[in-house]
Amino acid sequence: MKKMLMVLAAGLVLAAQSVYAGSACGSPCKADKSEKAEVKAQTTCPVMGGKVSKSTYVDHDGKRVYLCCSGCVAKFKEDADKYVREMEDKGIELEKVPAAE
Ligand SMILES: [Zn+2]
Repeated sequence: MKKMLMVLAAGLVLAAQSVYAGSACGSPCKADKSEKAEVKAQTTCPVMGGKVSKSTYVDHDGKRVYLCCSGCVAKFKEDADKYVREMEDKGIELEKVPAAE
């Protein structure tokens, strides 16, 4: 009778081990996000940091810079080079002005 209990216990241990092995690849495997943060599109206004409006932009030096509102357009034009440099320093890739002729 005691032998049977031993076998039963051993079976339980084995079952527990296989469950553990199955779930061993839980969170560490899911955390495998390859971070490609090299090139970012412009999503924020360089003047106020708000969300840009796709219909509010300034073309500067062949680059299209989006802004959040017309007030920022005026501000941006006062110091366009500085704002462009700041964005490029952050790794933001500005859109090229489409060739229009
Ligand atoms: Zn604005």
